[in-house]
Amino acid sequence: MTTLRRRIEDRVREAIIQGHRRSGRILISDTTLRDGEQMPGATLEPHQKLRIARALEQAGVHSLDAGFPASSEADIQAIRLMVGTIRGPVLTALCRTLNSDIDAASKALDGQPDHKRGVSLFCGTSPLHREFKLGKSRTEVLRLIVDSVAYAAERFRIVAFSPEDASRTEPDFLCQCYEEAIAAGATTVGFPDTVGLLTPEKTRDFIRLIQDKVPGIERALLAVHFHNDLGLAVANSLAGVAEGANVVQCTVNGIGERAGNASLEEVVMALTLHSDQYQRKHSIDTTALAPLCSLVERLTGITVPRMKPVGGANIFATEAGIHQDGLLKNPDTYLPFRPDVVGGPDISLVLGRHSGRRAVMHHLQSLGLSTDDTTVGKVLNRLKEMPGGTVIDSKLLTEIAAN
Ligand code: MN
Repeated sequence: MTTLRRRIEDRVREAIIQGHRRSGRILISDTTLRDGEQMPGATLEPHQKLRIARALEQAGVHSLDAGFPASSEADIQAIRLMVGTIRGPVLTALCRTLNSDIDAASKALDGQPDHKRGVSLFCGTSPLHREFKLGKSRTEVLRLIVDSVAYAAERFRIVAFSPEDASRTEPDFLCQCYEEAIAAGATTVGFPDTVGLLTPEKTRDFIRLIQDKVPGIERALLAVHFHNDLGLAVANSLAGVAEGANVVQCTVNGIGERAGNASLEEVVMALTLHSDQYQRKHSIDTTALAPLCSLVERLTGITVPRMKPVGGANIFATEAGIHQDGLLKNPDTYLPFRPDVVGGPDISLVLGRHSGRRAVMHHLQSLGLSTDDTTVGKVLNRLKEMPGGTVIDSKLLTEIAAN
């Protein structure tokens, strides 16, 4: 590449980054197909990954962590299926700080337009990773980062670098890693809480430190990546956003190793419902969320717990009489958002021991049955006698009402 062309490209790149930073938008970066798929039992075939990638594209994610080409042939195949097909989101491939990994990513992403393909480099930076995993000193780790980021920047316009185990890295060294990575050409720097141990307060301290102390940070986007080992991945992601992070990396249904990752649908709904607080826009079509959760559940085979926010089966269902009565009068009485906001199933008034008169009448009416006091009273009495766990469907309700 000629020096002039390089300089022009650098300027364009900087203008794009500045534009993103100024826009105040939160870019949602999905890693369901890479970090999510690393979860034991969640393995996806390449054609299934393409299906999910299409759904993520439709939902409006900004970038998509498409796989780790150096790790398996199946990852390469999946990326090859996405190249040229997935046009909205940027496709990124994960790489260690090895030239051979970057070459593998370059080959896998060949054919994807330059502004829609990138690499995501990672290297352990914490004392634990340096000593036990890499056997390298701080200086050696820095050299590795600089060399590989520079190598990647020769081949990709979009280069992300993440210091693995950032949350257990000495703050001064962490800042140095970011500074050098940006100077070497990183366009995004990531903050991964690899073992998921941060709290929202400590997250804010880290993100503030990075924004304040890393020279050149304004020339890159800052991405946050949280694991859920303390059940705080979403809260930490939001804390990162509050301190000015530009990108949130997350997975659908929060799938991922151990306790999983920050859940995309939860982060998006929190940002949506509290736009007054965060003052940040995102590009996700929230009506695509519940169908996306179902698709990922079906294809990965990882069952979503009934109580899972946004996508769980119980989110729009209730058996409690007082709540059922309220929901019938106005759904907003007992819901934070209506089902259509997330493309979820209709509100379901489950009949059971805790149900009240209004829900029984509602169900009898919808079946064209009598709603006189005697019938309703009879049904209510029978419901209270039913053994726990009995499913009261239309057939059973008709029987009860008739006898
Ligand atoms: Mn991770």
